Amino acid sequence: MQNVEKIDVIVVGAGPAGVAAAVTVARGGKTVVMIDRADLAGSKNMFGGAVYLNSIKDLFPLTWEEAPYESYISQNRYSFLTESSSVEINHKTLNYPSAATVFRPKFDAWLIEQAKKEGVFYAPKTTVRALLLDDKRVIGVRTDTEELKAKVVILADGVQSNLAQTLKLRKPIKPKDLILSVKETYYLENSKIKERFNLVGNQGMLCEYFGGLSDDKTTGYPFAMGFLYTFKNHISLGIGINAEDLIKMKKTPYELLERLKAHPDIIPYLDDARSIEYSAHTIPEGDFHHLPKLYTNGAMLVGDAAGLINNVHFEGTNYAIYSGILAGETALEAVKSNNASKKVLSGYEKRFKKSFMYKDMRSYRNVVPMLRKMSNSIFLKYPKKMDEFFTLFNMVDTIPRAVKYRDFAFKTAKSVAPDIPKIAKTVLEVLK
Ligand SMILES: Cc1cc2nc3c(=O)[nH]c(=O)nc-3n(C[C@H](O)[C@H](O)[C@H](O)COP(=O)(O)OP(=O)(O)OC[C@H]3O[C@@H](n4cnc5c(N)ncnc54)[C@H](O)[C@@H]3O)c2cc1C
Repeated sequence: MQNVEKIDVIVVGAGPAGVAAAVTVARGGKTVVMIDRADLAGSKNMFGGAVYLNSIKDLFPLTWEEAPYESYISQNRYSFLTESSSVEINHKTLNYPSAATVFRPKFDAWLIEQAKKEGVFYAPKTTVRALLLDDKRVIGVRTDTEELKAKVVILADGVQSNLAQTLKLRKPIKPKDLILSVKETYYLENSKIKERFNLVGNQGMLCEYFGGLSDDKTTGYPFAMGFLYTFKNHISLGIGINAEDLIKMKKTPYELLERLKAHPDIIPYLDDARSIEYSAHTIPEGDFHHLPKLYTNGAMLVGDAAGLINNVHFEGTNYAIYSGILAGETALEAVKSNNASKKVLSGYEKRFKKSFMYKDMRSYRNVVPMLRKMSNSIFLKYPKKMDEFFTLFNMVDTIPRAVKYRDFAFKTAKSVAPDIPKIAKTVLEVLK
């Protein structure tokens, strides 16, 4: 960092959270250095995935439309799978899309370019190995080659955030706190993608798969689901599974992905498609009950490093951006008042608690725990019931329909009844 004489703020990590924090500080006229270990910007930042356009618009109001979007999500499909059947709900809208698929290496490089244009100093290929402390106050970072000091350090170093763990802001991560995701990317001609998924122009699709990954009655259905996204000339197919459940199942994530690929619903999508990449990454569980403290003397945590995510809606990049902005604003106050004490940096947590992120995480606090407890129902029982219903509905035979419906309704009510209070309780919490 020979060109920078005095650093006000160091941001560790140049994903969406780091960029948002760094840009906010630079816009306030303070010197900010953003450090990332990756050789190429975003090269290791794998995700599903789609970014949410509002957050990008809020961060870069003038240039957000120029980002390298692949397709605009116009269809959200929810597919319930048994071993040999699927029932699909498809929400298709021609209204203005709220999300777009991107390739993270391209997209993150674009974010970083925007940040550089706004005055952020970017240090690529630089790994932060440790934090510099002065009497429990963070005063900078140590890389492989040098020590850099700053008034404030913002940790945007992603889901594992070893640095947050060294500050004891986060407890050591356990398997139950993580979702492990594996994804295969396929090349497929744009015309075939449009044809197969019923898309036109630059429309895109996200499908979430419930069920079909296991029928293991001994250990119970794991907390796991599949996803498929369309891009211009690619599709990505992946699964996400709670790491603790994966260990219990004694299976590899690839086995589950292979199972999804072999499902009759998926096979036609992959016809002629050429596999070009396998990747894996972890996602925080987004556990509201165990949110870390977001600040200490001299440092703040943002994005995945703080476990800020709403997994029910796949919202991660937008939480990263908005938490980065809030931490950036607080860092500016600390630099301007020359005081990066806990008291001043607690302003970040106060801002966060007023934000939609905190409110949504709080109202959804028991959704994922409930889904985990009910994974046998959600991923096994309900897809089977849906299949049974439509099989019966479409079956033409000599049994009177009323007899068939009564029998189905009776059996279904009996098997679903124990779930209803749990679902109702969680839904009421979400609405509160
Ligand atoms: C399979 C999968 C699917 C997903 N799908 C979606 C989706 O569809 N939509 C969505 O919004 N979100 C999705 N997410 C979540 C989303 O990817 C994350 O929430 C988001 O990337 C978090 O941004 P971040 O900036 O906090 O961290 P990251 O994007 O992980 O960035 C962290 C950065 O820190 C750098 N770094 C780490 N340690 C160091 C160090 N010691 N020194 C220097 N640099 C360091 C890394 O190189 C990286 O660039 C998905 C995640 C996964 C894994």
